[in-house]
Amino acid sequence: MSHQYVCTFTAALQVMIPSALKGRTEKALRLGTEALRLLDTQPVVDDWDENGVGADDSFWQQSDEELELGKWSGEQTLIGWLNRELLHQPMYRRLLAYVQQHEPITAEKLLQTFPYAAKAIRASLYAGWLVEIERIKDRIGVKKLKCVCLTMSEEEALAFSAGLKAKRQQETMEHLLAMNGEAPLKDLNASAVKALADKGVVQIEDREVLRDPYKERHFKPTQPLPLTDEQATVYSQLQEALDREKAKTFLLHGVTGSGKTEVYLQSIERCLASEREAIVLVPEISLTPQMVERFKGRFGAKVAVLHSRLSQGERYDEWRKIREGSVSVAIGARSAIFAPFRRIGLIIIDEEHETSYKQEETPKYHARDVAIERAVQHGAVVVLGSATPSMETYYAAKMHGYDAQARGLERPIWDVELLEMPTRVAGRPLPPVTVVDMREQLKIGNRSMFSAPLEEALEDRLAKGEQVVLLLNRRGYSTFIMCRTCGYVAQCPECDISLTYHMKTEHLRCHYCGYTERSPQTCPDCESEHIRFFGTGTQRVEEQLARRFPGIRVIRMDVDTTTEKGSHEKMLQQFRERRADVLLGTQMVAKGLDFPYVTLVGVIAADSALHMPDFRAAEKTFQLLTQVAGRAGRHHLPGEVVVQTYAPEHYSIVHASGHDYKAFSSEELRMRRARLVPPFCRLALLTMTHEELPLLVRAAENAVLRIKEIAEEWGLLKPLHGAVQAVDVFGPVASPIPRIKNKYRFQCTIKCRGEVDLPSLVSAALKTLEPMTREQGVLFHVDVDPQMM
Ligand code: ADP
Ligand code: ZN
Ligand code: ZN
Repeated sequence: MSHQYVCTFTAALQVMIPSALKGRTEKALRLGTEALRLLDTQPVVDDWDENGVGADDSFWQQSDEELELGKWSGEQTLIGWLNRELLHQPMYRRLLAYVQQHEPITAEKLLQTFPYAAKAIRASLYAGWLVEIERIKDRIGVKKLKCVCLTMSEEEALAFSAGLKAKRQQETMEHLLAMNGEAPLKDLNASAVKALADKGVVQIEDREVLRDPYKERHFKPTQPLPLTDEQATVYSQLQEALDREKAKTFLLHGVTGSGKTEVYLQSIERCLASEREAIVLVPEISLTPQMVERFKGRFGAKVAVLHSRLSQGERYDEWRKIREGSVSVAIGARSAIFAPFRRIGLIIIDEEHETSYKQEETPKYHARDVAIERAVQHGAVVVLGSATPSMETYYAAKMHGYDAQARGLERPIWDVELLEMPTRVAGRPLPPVTVVDMREQLKIGNRSMFSAPLEEALEDRLAKGEQVVLLLNRRGYSTFIMCRTCGYVAQCPECDISLTYHMKTEHLRCHYCGYTERSPQTCPDCESEHIRFFGTGTQRVEEQLARRFPGIRVIRMDVDTTTEKGSHEKMLQQFRERRADVLLGTQMVAKGLDFPYVTLVGVIAADSALHMPDFRAAEKTFQLLTQVAGRAGRHHLPGEVVVQTYAPEHYSIVHASGHDYKAFSSEELRMRRARLVPPFCRLALLTMTHEELPLLVRAAENAVLRIKEIAEEWGLLKPLHGAVQAVDVFGPVASPIPRIKNKYRFQCTIKCRGEVDLPSLVSAALKTLEPMTREQGVLFHVDVDPQMM
């Protein structure tokens, strides 16, 4: 598993350091550097320098969710260690075992036990994981509740109560009896309690309570469903693997509505039956309340939910439940993969293709990599589930069973076995998809953003009182301010990117650095008054809907309207209760929602992401369309999908409208192979930044030369198997956004094939580039397996 070095090791350490020292940035860097030096690992030339430390606090705010990981003790650090040392060093293994047995443990105690391991222990102390739990405990603390308890047996209490004259005291006794002898003080009458306490029949005690965000919610218990044939076949394979207790990874490719969740639920049951624990990852938990409901419904109090919007206290308590073993299922977004269970039997990653599983900020880890690594440590089964698997995973699954020799340069990164569920439960049909060619609409004089077929369908649903989901693929679009007279576009003064207009506050904002200014009334260049906002944002769709369909009730869900805590949930609830006709939004509306009265899904501009300079553009378009189409007609009412596009002949749109993943994937894989992009190679993106452009350009060219030299030294530039090199270095070129926060950006791409150990190569390169950072202040950021290219 050598490819895990860079991502998970840095993940481990860097997660811990910021969390231990939140807000104390300089110290964090010093300690972090020291820790890495002690651990003798790759040099610290990564995002900390720029985003994390010194400059401002944006890094800490941005990755708040990950910072919370600090409270998860040191297990993720240990994962890092294990990867790094790969069990070559028995000392680390012993340390790991000891800490896991004795947690929480103080540093002194550990040092006493392992005096010869002082260096490693000191390093981990610097990294913050040993002291973490203690520190969190006094910062957040355990919540205590004053409770009133009976000091006598039930019979005695009954008799005593019957003899009481004071009515209040009698009520209090009855209440306590009804509550099995104990009740929170706040629920009782204080003077009655005092009187009873004076008589010695009750006493007041402190009770530890767990903060449970779902305490007030009731989840309807559910029973396992009899499985369909397809589900049963898949389940039996999973069951066999679970019983073997050896690490194994499956891809469960099942169309939307094929009943994957039921398979997850029953597999978890099997896992729990053998006293092992399960982790379930979902892409964004606040968007999938129904998933939580289904897991709580089946497993009740055994489920811990790790929600990015939990309060610190709630999160700490969920963590404690996991650590203490009082729950055995953890469900959450990306970071839940670090849930500190001790005997993991099963890890499920639902919607495995989602890019949110890769953390874009440092530490840049992919939850799938961590899952596979943890599964190896625990002998666990990993299930990657999706209706539209990522090309990487699908390709690996297709190659399963071919021996390494045959795979040659095209060997996949993981070994994954394919399981398939090609039909929907109960034979419910997939909804028919109409593709509308917007060029034709223009020809017949329709310049509106709604084509005639979509408009008719909308009208029809409004008349019937049914509901509509409208999706605007926001990638590739933004709302910006432009002067119609001179063409001036409002740009961020610090970054080479146009500012985004926010209608609600009438502000312009840079999405990269957060720069904000008031929207100008006249053009700053020519003073023309014809300055207005452009771009097909959701706001504009909303406006047009209101104009075209007076009285229409629209819920708009996008980054602008969902900043408040709980706003997603509120909007979805409102829509579920049919207090709106249309749910309009960006990708958010495509994910995991299930509304019985939605019978029409409209996609405003399906191809808007196709023209992005991203080799995954077709894959992402296909996934989004398939997913959103899966929202329609999931229940008794049949559904329909209307897709508007300027590229109806594009294979991603053709195959998405035919619900044909296999045709899409074979075409896409053919393209990827021809263009030599993942999964037929691995990529690392190296970004270099500096304030001075000429210096940066020279440094970047230098850096590329150095990397090539290393590849040469390692014998990797020689042609392998014909003309194709094992390692290629491209660039340097200016980054897609060439300047951010007043720093220029250049990048180079390292591409490697076959058995090349990319992370090690990158580490070696960074080591030789370190002097450039020290002497010239050039910063290097590495992203192995980048998601955005
Ligand atoms: P997926 O996760 O693959 O999109 P779901 O698990 O949401 O599919 O299942 C779709 C619907 O089918 C749900 O309403 C679910 O309750 C139902 N379902 C799943 N398995 C069965 C089964 N074996 N028998 C009857 N209904 C089922
Ligand atoms: Zn102007
Ligand atoms: Zn900016």
